[in-house]
Amino acid sequence: MERAGEKNDVSVIVGNFGGAMQSKTENGKSTVFVDAGSLRGLLAANNYLAIAQQATHEGDHNLTRLGSPRLETSNRRSDLEFAERSAYRANGYINSALRIDDNNYKLWSRQFGWAPTYLEWVAQRSVADDCKTGCTP
Ligand SMILES: [Zn+2]
Repeated sequence: MERAGEKNDVSVIVGNFGGAMQSKTENGKSTVFVDAGSLRGLLAANNYLAIAQQATHEGDHNLTRLGSPRLETSNRRSDLEFAERSAYRANGYINSALRIDDNNYKLWSRQFGWAPTYLEWVAQRSVADDCKTGCTP
């Protein structure tokens, strides 16, 4: 019997991590961390779109790091900005593909399409969070 992570090198751990989903990639193996309380809240609110967006966002981070392994450990602000813009663009595709307004991140709407200002704002917010412990320029 195959177990999660054995064939695709991706593991998902549900626990008490706080906040939105997070991920890391080390030596080609990716782990997605899902906060149980946050997941419970999103399910209770029927906010399945946020779950899909977060999973897509973290999946994009993992694919980016698999493509450029040096990004696994980079704390260069420009690398983090590149990664966050890519990941938020990926989670916005959930909305554009389904043609459902993005009420979680406001990245895409039926009326206006992509909202680059919001995309940059959420990307910079994530980078600021990542850089709390220190980034290089
Ligand atoms: Zn991110």
